[in-house]
Amino acid sequence: MESTELTPTMQKMAARSAAEFAEIVAPLNLDFTSEQIDQLLRYRDLLLERNRHVNLTAVRDCDGIERRLILESLRLVPFVQQHAGSGNIMDLGSGGGIPGMILAIAMPELSFTLLDATGKKVIFQRDVIEAIGLENVRAVQGRAEELGHDINWRNSYDLVTARAVTSLSALMELGLPFVSMKGWLVLPKGNDIEEELGIARKAAGKLGGTIVSYDELEQVGSDVSTRLVLVRKDQATPGTYPRRVGLPAKSPLGSPQDLAEKRPRKRARA
Ligand code: SAH
Repeated sequence: MESTELTPTMQKMAARSAAEFAEIVAPLNLDFTSEQIDQLLRYRDLLLERNRHVNLTAVRDCDGIERRLILESLRLVPFVQQHAGSGNIMDLGSGGGIPGMILAIAMPELSFTLLDATGKKVIFQRDVIEAIGLENVRAVQGRAEELGHDINWRNSYDLVTARAVTSLSALMELGLPFVSMKGWLVLPKGNDIEEELGIARKAAGKLGGTIVSYDELEQVGSDVSTRLVLVRKDQATPGTYPRRVGLPAKSPLGSPQDLAEKRPRKRARA
């Protein structure tokens, strides 16, 4: 090996130039301006840097951020565009801004709300918004269980995304209250979701949602296998949902725990 060549580890750590990065996302055919490419790279650098001190994502190397976070999030663009309605989008449990911040850079014509319960993550989101000068994103700290009952938030979003937050059933309970009638949940998931889907199907009816598809995403320029679960809100979500903080994840609707809790307890003998 020549001394100037990079070892695989060095390659993983080395930041790609704008031209190299543009090549990675080229198969997606998204027609980015050079300004958008620069914004994505600026976001990559800010995430890489802050993630050294604050736990924002388990992906810590440059190549991982570019491919597993940025490229993977960009695969959602056509679905978001197709179902964007009037253009009000929420990313629930956005963490370091994934996929919401990346989608906001890719689609400046849509308006994004990034919601997360954790203060330090929201502070990072706000720092990114200011550093890059994004005008179509706001970052809010809060719990979906609480804001989902707030009239300023309920039924107010055309589309809600969420990645790596919780199970499908819990995502429907947390997400559908925010969605307006005929709006969508767009949920990227791993490949092995049969069990989750079974529970989520039972939950869907109670929440006014229909699981419309859960196909594997076409592997454009990516070797990660992802399923995209699309849920449409066909009926109003009853006012009892979401339940109190923590319950949607702890006792997902339609799961054995949930069903067990509903069974009447035997009365203790005196
Ligand atoms: N979507 C990001 C973050 C995943 S970690 C990514 O893909 O990297 C899950 C995030 O969801 C955490 O930051 C956590 O604070 C947030 N979260 C979990 N439950 C939540 C709730 N009920 N309301 C708001 N945020 C929540």
